[in-house]
Amino acid sequence: MSIRTRFAPSPTGSMHIGSLRTAAYAYALAKHSGGQFLLRIEDTDQKREVKGATQKIYDVLQKFDLGWDEKPVVQSQRLKIYQDAAQRLIQSGHAVSDQGAIRLKIPPRETISFHDFVLDHDVSWKSDDIPPAVLLKSDGFPTYHLAMPVDDHDMGITHVIRTVEWLPSTPIHILVFKYLNYELPQIGHPSAILDPAGGKLSKRKGNVSVEQFLARGYLPEALLNFVILLGWAPKDNRELFTLEQFVSTFDIKGFQKSNPIFNTQKLDWFNGHYIRQKSDTELTHLVKPYVKNKLSSTQITQVIPLIKDRLIKLSDFDQLTQFFVSRPAIPPNASVSPTHLKFAIVNIDAILNNEIVDKIKSQGWKVGDFFMSLRIAVCGSKFTPPITETMLVLGKEESLKRLNSAIGKLKID
Ligand code: GLU
Repeated sequence: MSIRTRFAPSPTGSMHIGSLRTAAYAYALAKHSGGQFLLRIEDTDQKREVKGATQKIYDVLQKFDLGWDEKPVVQSQRLKIYQDAAQRLIQSGHAVSDQGAIRLKIPPRETISFHDFVLDHDVSWKSDDIPPAVLLKSDGFPTYHLAMPVDDHDMGITHVIRTVEWLPSTPIHILVFKYLNYELPQIGHPSAILDPAGGKLSKRKGNVSVEQFLARGYLPEALLNFVILLGWAPKDNRELFTLEQFVSTFDIKGFQKSNPIFNTQKLDWFNGHYIRQKSDTELTHLVKPYVKNKLSSTQITQVIPLIKDRLIKLSDFDQLTQFFVSRPAIPPNASVSPTHLKFAIVNIDAILNNEIVDKIKSQGWKVGDFFMSLRIAVCGSKFTPPITETMLVLGKEESLKRLNSAIGKLKID
């Protein structure tokens, strides 16, 4: 039988980074064995629904190449199906109508167990500890407790991967599956992602939405690679995975029981890596929406190769290239020599033609000291892209202006 998984987000706002992880796991589990990955929009909590959020779910999944098979199932279009299921439960004596709502009758003194295929252990509850569960609200809308079993059954889902918040509700779902005579799918809950500051990763503590990460200039490839390793690891210690490689390597034995920690430095590392995999042309195209500092298209194209190695997020572009746009200040106490700068002015052509090194040496100067003076005068910083290439992009005229202006400032000081 082929594996069928689903991603079942609620359209209640931007997608949480943890949901992207859930989607990627469900996708890989299905696709690894040539199965199907389905999408279900869980929009039965009309009060929490945010306009436009469903479209954003489609957009985000497409951005990450997590394409779904078959037409998405939209719960609000299936109310009659849930209402019928609730009636069947009443008729079989497993639910009661209670002031307009329909509630599950929880049997006394039963043990309810299942094997969590992600955490790879058995979990059991005593039925007397299970809280009352509404299945259908008085407005005719189902709760998740009813809609989930009905839909997973109708969609032929074989494996459910969902966030660990749902683990305590699992016995309710197991009962509903049983009372509706549905076969229980495999259910698994990847462990919760922790914030480096402690506790669960949450909105309160900072950015958690996929959209925000994209807006800050993280590449989808990097975000995806980062999230799949939050709670899953391959047999070897390999870290770099395209989606395709993840799918072909995927193995449920790779799920980890310990809670992963959201390490932004690691995410930055992935992003830097994927940025450097891009061609200069691709990167120029990607960076453009983030450029606010008025560099022209030609200038962006020229500058990209110079800063590519230092670019961590696309949004760092402005800061790294600010000195191309405005003449920098000379930092106080900078080690810059007016003599070096005067020499640079006279020998500007030799600098731009990469023929300056011997001339510097014949002055008895250290090459590094000379270039440090140039860096500070031209870029206002000790840390710059390759300085000759930078001056070539700035042009001879602007480079000379900066050298002269620095000499002027150094004299006044
Ligand atoms: N709508 C639920 C959520 O977003 C889905 C849980 C599930 O995957 O079954 O948490």
